Amino acid sequence: FHAPSRTFQSLRPSVPLPPIERRLNVAAYAFSLLPSPLPSNPALVDAATGDTVSFPKLLSQIRSLVSALRSHAGIDRGHCVFVLAPTSLDIPPLYLALLSIGAVVSAANPASTPREISHFLSLSNPRVAFATSATAAKLPAGLATIILDSPRFRSFLDGGDGGEAVEEVAQSDVAFFQFSSGTTGMMKAAALSHRNMIAIVAPCHSMRNPVAERRRGGPEATLLTAPLFHAMGYAFLLIGLALGETAVLIGGRTSVKEIVQAAERHRVTSLTAAPPVVVEMARWPEPLDLVALKYVICGGAPVPEAAAEQFMRLFPHGYGSTEAGPISGMIGQEECRRLRSVGRLAENVEAMLVDTTTGERLSVGQTGELWLRSPYIMLGYVGNEEANDATFDSSGWLKTGDLCYFDEDGFLFIVDRLKELIKCGASQVPPAELEHLLQLLPGIADAAVVPYPDEEAGQVPMAFVVLQPGINLNEEEIMDFIAKQVIPYKKLRKVVFIDSIPKTPTGKIARAELRNHSVFSSMSK
Ligand code: AMP
Repeated sequence: FHAPSRTFQSLRPSVPLPPIERRLNVAAYAFSLLPSPLPSNPALVDAATGDTVSFPKLLSQIRSLVSALRSHAGIDRGHCVFVLAPTSLDIPPLYLALLSIGAVVSAANPASTPREISHFLSLSNPRVAFATSATAAKLPAGLATIILDSPRFRSFLDGGDGGEAVEEVAQSDVAFFQFSSGTTGMMKAAALSHRNMIAIVAPCHSMRNPVAERRRGGPEATLLTAPLFHAMGYAFLLIGLALGETAVLIGGRTSVKEIVQAAERHRVTSLTAAPPVVVEMARWPEPLDLVALKYVICGGAPVPEAAAEQFMRLFPHGYGSTEAGPISGMIGQEECRRLRSVGRLAENVEAMLVDTTTGERLSVGQTGELWLRSPYIMLGYVGNEEANDATFDSSGWLKTGDLCYFDEDGFLFIVDRLKELIKCGASQVPPAELEHLLQLLPGIADAAVVPYPDEEAGQVPMAFVVLQPGINLNEEEIMDFIAKQVIPYKKLRKVVFIDSIPKTPTGKIARAELRNHSVFSSMSK
């Protein structure tokens, strides 16, 4: 897997993708893989209500929506559409109709604050928004908004007058804007193409992929605990639909107890979950009646070793990012035995390890920044050339900001994160955003936000704060100021006052130096 040129290739057989010049949207591609006649198991199940949507019904909803969204909502190829809604049975047909039209789906966490939402809107510049009657109040009055739980949307969905997909959607067209801070700075809109999503669906469908092979044994059901506004949520939705599986949808803010109950009730055969869910399941006090469960697909952040040990012999663990899509994973029983590794390179992925000081390409066993090339890599950040220049090298390699090494068998190990990003559960907390907000609080002279280890969430944000002379602000007041402006997982959990924030010669926060502060010394790293 390691060529003399010091690039690392996937050991998995490469998966053929449709010719790039073929006009094809990812919804049409996913449905082209479905068996005929259509699977008789439901396409979608709402875990809370038990309501279901069959495959023929889903296809007719999509056709009806395609026609209504174009003629009544004026949505067309290239238009961005913002979605602010919790998971429900309406979201999959909405996404699939928008993708069929060639519109760009730009979804955000419905718990975001109006301040955060206005930043997302300025990045994505949507023509129309979809919200629920509960979330619509957070949107600006000037933005045309269609309410999902309204008779109007129901008539769009069940109108019956079938519209055809827009033929001219190119694979290079943007399918999703996914909000991500990447390695540094504020949230940006990462543009992911139809090609990126087709490349994600293709290997899971390939008979040579052990996951796909075993799933083909009978009707399968995946419990999607990853939310549909997140790449992991919509990627596994598309993969599951293409495989003819049932997607069991569960709303956000669901307790692990509800997840376990839904998995038992719907006899799910696989489960996508963020690391905190896996940790709590591993510690579950009662025996779990998950007889049907074959796979837990977990990723987005590291899984702590004790939970991993309990799970990894049975369940795959994946490593990926918004910008790079799937990077590596454990997909066979053999691979799952390599504890602490994030598995081998995914299909069609090429990697390099680069010494961040010398720029030298490294070899097996040596630790450096992971650079990637693959059909999954995003097109780039929208309207942010500075971030694109920092993220891609001149030959198109994407710099992950993760410090990694390969062992001689091609297993990848993540050693550390070079980038600023804090991951609370699988959610992103960009330190730059909280640092900017802290600067707005009168009395604060300087601030730096860094990850603080947390058993459940993996990491939580904490701030080092320098107060202006003569100012009396306490930890509580600073945490409250932030809490009012951010989604709950971004709240500061700790504030430490210091005399000055260490800086690099170029004036950037010396984050590595802050890690030596005594607040971390009681912890083993
Ligand atoms: P996101 O774009 O929010 O998916 O974040 C991607 C980043 O999360 C990666 O670059 C890693 O730093 C981290 N990450 C994702 N999966 C894993 C994993 N399995 N183990 C450790 N870190 C991970």
